[in-house]
Amino acid sequence: MGDWHEYPDFLDALDALVARSGGESPRPAVAVIGLEGLGDVDVALGYRVTDDLIRRAAHALQAELSDAHVGITGRHQLGAAFPDVAESGFAELAVHKVLRVLSEPFAVGERQVLLWPRAGFALAPPNGGRPDELLTHAYAALRQARRARERLRRYAPEATASLLEGVDLWSQLGQAVEAGSLHLEYQPQVALATGRLQSVEALLRWDHPEYGAIRPDTMIAAAEGTDLMPRLTHWVFNTALRQCAEYRQAGLDAGVSVNFSADDVREREVVDLVAQSLELWRVPAEMVTVELTETAVMESHDAEAREALHSMKDLGLRVSMDDFGIGYSSMDRLLRMPLDELKIDMTFVHELTTSPPHERIVESMIGLGHKLGLSVVAEGVEDAETQVRLRELDCDLVQGFHLGRPARLEQFMERVGSGKRLGKH
Ligand code: C2E
Ligand code: CA
Ligand code: CA
Repeated sequence: MGDWHEYPDFLDALDALVARSGGESPRPAVAVIGLEGLGDVDVALGYRVTDDLIRRAAHALQAELSDAHVGITGRHQLGAAFPDVAESGFAELAVHKVLRVLSEPFAVGERQVLLWPRAGFALAPPNGGRPDELLTHAYAALRQARRARERLRRYAPEATASLLEGVDLWSQLGQAVEAGSLHLEYQPQVALATGRLQSVEALLRWDHPEYGAIRPDTMIAAAEGTDLMPRLTHWVFNTALRQCAEYRQAGLDAGVSVNFSADDVREREVVDLVAQSLELWRVPAEMVTVELTETAVMESHDAEAREALHSMKDLGLRVSMDDFGIGYSSMDRLLRMPLDELKIDMTFVHELTTSPPHERIVESMIGLGHKLGLSVVAEGVEDAETQVRLRELDCDLVQGFHLGRPARLEQFMERVGSGKRLGKH
């Protein structure tokens, strides 16, 4: 066996393995290994060092795995394809060995760097299946491992069954990004004190030609943990800024709020892409808010997430903690995050006028936000009564069906332009 492969050669090798086995046992298995320590290396030592390191890791792994193929499958990612695996237990043993090899420190100059490997793996299905499908399954397992914070996970179809059964959503979504069949809808965020439109949240939409409207959370779940996520975020961010520039040009003095996924705070590249879009569309950075869910912030490697958030803050962006109240923030971490805004989760807002305990919690969250110097947004405001109560509780901004449903840009601009006061009360 030769040395490790670059991505196209790795796919070829995988093709050959799958074709050879025809789904008979023993059959091939594939592991995708995320090297989560490399995000820190990017930041501390630069991209070149990371690139060199991942090549050395691939080489070391190939040297240990005499009959497997090792390849680079992503910027912080390796793949390993095992030709003849009798059953899942053997694949798992092999992946344990992979993790053992990659858990050894690598010397970079005077330093010892840890790669922090995490793996997902999948066995070719009995009918053989397609090689790219096998790789997608291993990616999905890596994503599941990440969520569960496990070092290793085998692909379990039931865990993704809630995505769309049997539909290769991932590759179709990739094509949708290229083909331009995604779009954004915009929903107003209004300042309670003045009734002014302050910002507009961009929400991702995909009308699938066969399956109709696909929920954004489903898309994100399919993309997370794969190379598709940064591409998707880049598309969303760039489109949102382009359209924000458009409505600002038309005289609407409002900012834009964009949702980022947990992955995005791990990827150093995303910060560069953000900087590029800001430069390109000339939207003032302080008018742009990055919304990250509480869970996403808390799930991310502490130092890494903070680093990425600080880089975004350095660019002048605002950072908002979305879905606040349903995650598992520790107050300590909350204090250490460079935030500008808290967004109270709609589950609290919905009960505001009917449940005194909910009202007290919302009041406390607003108080906490203000004590930390943050602006507080309530989302999911569906009626005038809730809006009035939020104003009495000194909440800063409101968003929800009462103020306006998400709409395509043209429709959104028409609505705002027609002078209709948003959420008039
Ligand atoms: P989110 O960020 O919490 O967005 C608010 C969701 O609540 C949106 O659902 C919005 O349509 C809906 N909503 C707005 N007002 C009301 C209301 O008054 N009542 C109720 N019941 N719902 C309301 P949507 O568009 O389905 O998005 C779901 C989630 O998907 C978002 O939750 C966000 O986490 C994620 N998402 C959407 N677009 C993107 C994106 O471009 N990137 C990423 N990473 N995630 C996105
Ligand atoms: Ca949001
Ligand atoms: Ca939310």
